[in-house]
Amino acid sequence: MSAPLRRVLAWGRLSADEHRWTTLADRSTVARSIRGGGLPFGNGRSYGDVCLNAGGVLWSTRGLDRFIAFDREAGLVECEAGLLLKDIIDVVLPSGWFLPVVPGTQFITVGGAIANDVHGKAHHAAGSFGDQVLSFELVRTDGQVVQCSPDENAEWFRATVGGLGLTGVITRARLRLRKVSGPWLESETIPFDSLEEFFRLSSEARKSFEYTVSWIDCVSGGRGRGVFFQGNHGGKTDPAPARRPKTFPLTPPVSLINSLSLRAFNFAYYRMNKLKQGRGWQHYVPFFFPLDNLLEWNRIYGPRGFFQYQSVVPPGVQLDATRAMLQEIARSGLGSFLAVLKTFGERAAPGLLSFPMPGTTLALDFPNQGAQTLALFERLDAIVAEAGGRLYPAKDARMTRAMFEAGYPRLSEFINYLDPGISSSMSRRLLGR
Ligand SMILES: Cc1cc2nc3c(=O)[nH]c(=O)nc-3n(C[C@H](O)[C@H](O)[C@H](O)COP(=O)(O)OP(=O)(O)OC[C@H]3O[C@@H](n4cnc5c(N)ncnc54)[C@H](O)[C@@H]3O)c2cc1C
Repeated sequence: MSAPLRRVLAWGRLSADEHRWTTLADRSTVARSIRGGGLPFGNGRSYGDVCLNAGGVLWSTRGLDRFIAFDREAGLVECEAGLLLKDIIDVVLPSGWFLPVVPGTQFITVGGAIANDVHGKAHHAAGSFGDQVLSFELVRTDGQVVQCSPDENAEWFRATVGGLGLTGVITRARLRLRKVSGPWLESETIPFDSLEEFFRLSSEARKSFEYTVSWIDCVSGGRGRGVFFQGNHGGKTDPAPARRPKTFPLTPPVSLINSLSLRAFNFAYYRMNKLKQGRGWQHYVPFFFPLDNLLEWNRIYGPRGFFQYQSVVPPGVQLDATRAMLQEIARSGLGSFLAVLKTFGERAAPGLLSFPMPGTTLALDFPNQGAQTLALFERLDAIVAEAGGRLYPAKDARMTRAMFEAGYPRLSEFINYLDPGISSSMSRRLLGR
């Protein structure tokens, strides 16, 4: 019997193509279930087409959601790859442990976190998600099962961490945790008025803060006004404030983000944080996952959806390249309130196609306004390419093959590990297969 057809949207809601949807729920039968070809699908929190396989098969991994082991002494957890990071945090935190690297949402699977080698606010201190993975099991469509770690089948480990789901299905993983004394962080909010100030704050913060991130006002132009957030886990153990997440109720007929609403929001957000500046306690949910309190917020951009453009540029040119991008964005009148600026640390990436590299990453959401938006991206691409930077596939839905090849010099090595039974909308666009 063939799998049911389902329209699947990635987080950016740019397309709603039909897919044949199958569910993997039993590790022992994965090899048999994937023989006919398809693409692993985690929780669909990637923005563009890395998690889509338009017209083809998706293997939903959310049924692979069992804990296998939790070593409370050593801080190690072993679980199936469809488990959400939220489920892991909920179980390990009461025993004084936390995941060392978390992205801006906890609603992603372990498999998705490995396949995009996601990063968080702690890159300078802990690296990316792949740096916390001790081992995993990879099942290929020819039935081969590969046990991977930095020491065992290390070449498969390097290809699969950040491997965009194209090397096989990860069925289980063993992860390192970090000790914490409670669910709260001691945080500090610092408004800044220029990019120079942002870079000064970043280099000071990395000496004494595990987590750093900034919001940047994308309508203020190349000047680069924003708010810097830094924090460390702290000893406060009070229970979490009772707050149930709300759901954005509907998809409005047009994007609610436009140049007027953006200008008003940015002005108010900057002012509000200026008033709140200084030190304080923050619970880990609003600190790490502020957007998780408004479920389905991606509907705000209306029926045409939205793009995220996330780049990283190297340290030597980070000031000029970031300024040039912000000037282009301000000139365009496009952009959104979700604009994030962060510096990555120096450590070598664990995956052949890992996105993080030393330098500065800028991420911005843009309502899909068709040709106008795509034209802006071409101008931003030129700045990123000239700077020797790259774009993040987890967020991408439109970069060119040339841009991908230029940004990922180890691509030719990676190609050797592709599973011939796996293909995605992104792989067809960027690799031609
Ligand atoms: C609000 C929000 C904030 C975010 N913040 C960040 C951030 O700060 N940093 C960051 O790096 N990312 C961030 N992201 C992006 C997100 O973390 C990644 O896209 C992540 O990979 C999504 O995981 P997923 O489980 O939803 O996987 P999906 O999006 O469903 O799939 C992602 C990729 O993983 C592959 N895959 C999934 N499961 C498996 C498996 N078991 N075996 C092999 N391959 C698999 C898929 O084929 C696909 O290529 C954010 C996303 C959102 C919506």
